[in-house]
Amino acid sequence: MAYFNNKKEPVPEVETMIWSCTNDSCPGWMRESFSFESEPSCPLCHSEMKKEEKVLPKID
Ligand SMILES: [Zn+2]
Repeated sequence: MAYFNNKKEPVPEVETMIWSCTNDSCPGWMRESFSFESEPSCPLCHSEMKKEEKVLPKID
């Protein structure tokens, strides 16, 4: 995401653990903290998901 308005504070970004879909043709992923299952399946294609780190805007 680009910031077009310089007056706005950019959102700090942090490395976040996510679940990423193992299906290469699927863009599905979710934040680990948003998943309630220990091994979730992809909400889009129901493939297995694997843990990954992704740089995301920080949320409290
Ligand atoms: Zn998927």
